[in-house]
Amino acid sequence: MQAKESCSLSGDQPVDNPADLTAEYPIVEIFHSVQGEGMHAGVPHVFIRFGECNLRCEWCDTDFLTHETKTALDILGDVMAYPSKRIIFTGGEPMLNDLWPLHRLLKARGYSLSIETNGTIEVPEGMLDWICVSPKDQIYPNAVIRQRTGDELKCVYLGQDLTMYHDLQQGFKHIFLQPCYMDQESVEWNGRNFAHTETIVKTNPPWRLSLQTHKWMGVD
Ligand code: SF4
Repeated sequence: MQAKESCSLSGDQPVDNPADLTAEYPIVEIFHSVQGEGMHAGVPHVFIRFGECNLRCEWCDTDFLTHETKTALDILGDVMAYPSKRIIFTGGEPMLNDLWPLHRLLKARGYSLSIETNGTIEVPEGMLDWICVSPKDQIYPNAVIRQRTGDELKCVYLGQDLTMYHDLQQGFKHIFLQPCYMDQESVEWNGRNFAHTETIVKTNPPWRLSLQTHKWMGVD
């Protein structure tokens, strides 16, 4: 009998390319939680947090330098342990990786795939079901935003002039302004920033307010 070229993990139909199963990724953590911010706030997802990033934002709350290597098969096993069929690739910067092997394995099993990216690396056409770009050019003026279309634009507000997004926002369906939450700052500092962001949103349509509700809940 001729050996099968592919492997079946779900059902009788062989669907997987062996090379996809052994693709390796730097993974900080994989966990099941509720999306706390943006358009899908309140919706359960499985989060795949990738290691490494090409930027270094001072408010970054992820230790993206501490990660382990996992194969796509390992990741698939972790993800399938949870009931949610919605996945968010986050980081770090997930687009530093070739996500096609994971895409093929997960889409074959009916998962919906979203990404949260800083937008400095273009997302290949057809790879993801939901693209959220959170640009950081307000602190990295030289960071070129190459992913200029998507579903959601989510900008961290640090007092920047919103006219800097006039061109970029044209490519997105939903536009969010999110107060910068700094763990190392006082409650008062964060409160002032929240209030300022709310004021800006009220006077600058079509921007909408996004809050990191998961931080209040004390969950990831
Ligand atoms: S782009 Fe995102 S992951 Fe990278 S340093 Fe900034 S906040 Fe952290």
